[in-house]
Amino acid sequence: MENKIIKKKANVDERYCVACGRCEKECPFSAISIYKGIISKVDINKCVGCGKCAKACPANAIEIKPIEVSDSKNKINVKKKIKNKKHWSDYMWIVSTLYLVLGLFNILFAWLGLLCFLIPLLISIFGGGKKYCNKYCGRGQILNILGNKFKLSRNKSMPKFLKGKYFRVGFLIFFLAMFLNMLFITYLVFNNTNSLREVITLFWIFKLPWNFIDYSYVTPWVVQFAFGFYSMMLTSTLLGVITMIFCKPNSWCVYCPMGTMTQGISIIKNK
Ligand code: SF4
Ligand code: SF4
Repeated sequence: MENKIIKKKANVDERYCVACGRCEKECPFSAISIYKGIISKVDINKCVGCGKCAKACPANAIEIKPIEVSDSKNKINVKKKIKNKKHWSDYMWIVSTLYLVLGLFNILFAWLGLLCFLIPLLISIFGGGKKYCNKYCGRGQILNILGNKFKLSRNKSMPKFLKGKYFRVGFLIFFLAMFLNMLFITYLVFNNTNSLREVITLFWIFKLPWNFIDYSYVTPWVVQFAFGFYSMMLTSTLLGVITMIFCKPNSWCVYCPMGTMTQGISIIKNK
């Protein structure tokens, strides 16, 4: 008869996991991974219950619990940590930083941000789950560096309502409404109904005039879109920085509209 023993293992609360992939990155034994962009799953035969994943999880969705496992399957060499080799995708934070800085000098760079909208959506639509969030999101990497390397994060759990489904979906709807509003303003400029407004709007309220470059050589609606889009990108980055400071480094990933959308698409695709 097989012997059973009690061991501590990671356990994921499916109600709160947003499939951000932070745990997968942190685990030294490759014992946790993202399943089809929907949720993270633990391989209990590899997990040693070290708790690194739980500490990093921005949604506090992991608990380390004692569970009964078969003795024969639990021969884990804890010394045999897997060293995470650096990959080119680990440097996407440089691209995101450049994007934010260049946009301040020439707003037309804002157009490049459309890639951060389209690529994650296309990846999830074509069955890649949340690979963009998990591997290529430069903004997530910036927040992780600021929070962990520069120790700017208080590393506290985020309030429960912020990680709940209603808030996440509500924020996604709000964000999409703001995006449509921005497209409408661009359309009014295209239509010559409105004139070009060279302002960056932070948090959809605070207006920063930013017109030290002459854009008269560019079609006005192109510039209007750039101002609107850059405002959204800067606002969402600042929201990420604020939640990084007060909660855990990657707390933004919990309610990021792109993350909510791509997880939703992955769930629908795998139904
Ligand atoms: S929310 Fe992110 S870090 Fe937490 S369990 Fe899910 S994938 Fe892992
Ligand atoms: S508890 Fe440690 S070994 Fe287990 S999944 Fe989390 S990080 Fe990996």
